[in-house]
Amino acid sequence: MLGVGAGGHHPAGPWPRPAELAGPDGIVGVAEVTCVAEVAGVVEIVEIVEIAGVVGPDAMVIARGEHADRAVSSASTGTATAATRAVREARGILDGAVIMTSEPHCPLVGLHGGTRTGARDRPAYPPKLAGVSLHLFDTAAREMREFRPLQDGKVGMYICGLTTQGAPHIGHVRFAVAFDVLRRWLTIGHELEVTLVRNVTDIDDKILAKATEAQQEWWAWSYRNERLTSEALDLLGVLPATYEPRATGHIVEMVELMDTLVEKGHAYAAADGSGDVYFDVKSWPEYGSLTGQALEDMAPAEDADPRGKRDPRDFALWKGHKVDEPASAQWPTHFGHGRPGWHLECSAMARRYLGDAFDIHGGGIDLRFPHHENEQAQSRAAGLPFANFWLHNAWVTVRNQKMGKSLGNALEIQAVTRVARPLAVRYYLTAAHYRSMIEYHEGSLAEAGAAVDRIEGLLDRVDQVRPLADRRGTLPQAFRDAMDDDLNVSGALAVVHDTVRAANTALDDGDLDGAADLAAAVVAMTHILGVNPMDPHWAGASTPGQGDATAALDSLVQAQLAARQSARSARDFAAADAIRDQLTAAGIAIEDTPSGPRWSLSRPADAPVTSASRGIPTDAPAPQPKD
Ligand SMILES: [Zn+2]
Repeated sequence: MLGVGAGGHHPAGPWPRPAELAGPDGIVGVAEVTCVAEVAGVVEIVEIVEIAGVVGPDAMVIARGEHADRAVSSASTGTATAATRAVREARGILDGAVIMTSEPHCPLVGLHGGTRTGARDRPAYPPKLAGVSLHLFDTAAREMREFRPLQDGKVGMYICGLTTQGAPHIGHVRFAVAFDVLRRWLTIGHELEVTLVRNVTDIDDKILAKATEAQQEWWAWSYRNERLTSEALDLLGVLPATYEPRATGHIVEMVELMDTLVEKGHAYAAADGSGDVYFDVKSWPEYGSLTGQALEDMAPAEDADPRGKRDPRDFALWKGHKVDEPASAQWPTHFGHGRPGWHLECSAMARRYLGDAFDIHGGGIDLRFPHHENEQAQSRAAGLPFANFWLHNAWVTVRNQKMGKSLGNALEIQAVTRVARPLAVRYYLTAAHYRSMIEYHEGSLAEAGAAVDRIEGLLDRVDQVRPLADRRGTLPQAFRDAMDDDLNVSGALAVVHDTVRAANTALDDGDLDGAADLAAAVVAMTHILGVNPMDPHWAGASTPGQGDATAALDSLVQAQLAARQSARSARDFAAADAIRDQLTAAGIAIEDTPSGPRWSLSRPADAPVTSASRGIPTDAPAPQPKD
């Protein structure tokens, strides 16, 4: 259904008809036909429901062909009408359906509309009862489902990690931030013991090609990029996975899985003696079920030379060694010398660390097909229940295109954290709902930085009068409800900022204990989102020496502030202003507050955040304002 190579018209899909969708109050189900005001003809309703019923990135998957770019562009910039029009064009649907963009009911608007960044909205779905339980959007079921762990008190989670073909950019690491929030919420909010597996694809076609180009061993190339990825994730406060298995370390498990599949008649060794092993898609009637596609609509799998395949849509489980590949890129098996296929490694490693059935499988939306479809097919055909929930995160886009090295719009983590503190980058990536696109634009990091500053400013104020270190904060119910609602981070952050405001008011009113309780709640909430400014992680721990540099700078600035205060007391305002100007020129902003002056590192207001140049401090330490 989600048109991989499908094209053309689909008279009926897995989507419910509008009549089935309408609830008693006229609000419809997941597909949210409320955004379709006037529709000419049932067929078009089905088409629109199909478009509206999937999250944005899927609309892009649907919108293949010459109009795809426009669909992508409209879908991520925010107008439902434009997105729908483009998707309609892409699929050859005639005009006649009118889409109403009345927020908040339209999922396309809910997904992408509103703000410039598109980061504050979230996909729409029917409201659920507050405080009931955790609901997550299962992309396999295409609806919200109540999350219940398969085993009491425990959660097994597998996320497809990065291939080690290059250094990560901020688009690459979004998945890790999104699932870090889920993991923290399961652990802290629901007191579940989470086992998180994030694999490392340390060998594949691209790694071999790039290593050869760089005249390096593939494993040296791979390991270097694995380290860079770990460093980037650590810089952004992503907690380490429980296990981070490498594909090349699990050949035995893969061979075992292939044996089972061959035995059950779902896999075969290539007839051409290439050493390839393929999955027989026609042998498995469920093939296509994860992404709602019929086999006859699918295009050939492009993962291997089709000559050894029984059906061009069969995909490779194992790749036989080729003469032009390095000798080190092969392992001996009874199928012949070769290396792992990408899909097989995830099935094998998920089983190794999480068992035959596990709770959540996550990854970027672009991995749904073929990768996740194939993973599920292999595991289920081998008789394993595999993942109970499938969660997919959306992309970071630049000018409405997916961020990517080949497109030349990629922003490497190190470059981004040179112009914004890592905490602000983390906040930026966290603040959008995981299923919404984040459209990167100049200034969005600065907005995130300002939000972080507001939170930090409050915590700092309170900490000076009522130390927060030993105070345990309670999570407000509204925060819990938002997080339980498919990780509605924008709702959760609204509670954070309301609490910050209330705490500032309490402080101004002299209610110090009240302010401290509220501030402790802010700490608890921001900790779950991974953006707690008081977390030692952000205080320079992630960059050696940064904490020391901040302390040294603080001592110098405090001396200047004291001199300024003396000048003011002596009514020598010219001297006081001169000191302030000197500090400003050095990139230090001074704010006079009722409890005394505070300083922070400032940046020129017009500084383009996409550029690491222009005299912006290249190793700006995390500001630690102190009085
Ligand atoms: Zn995978």
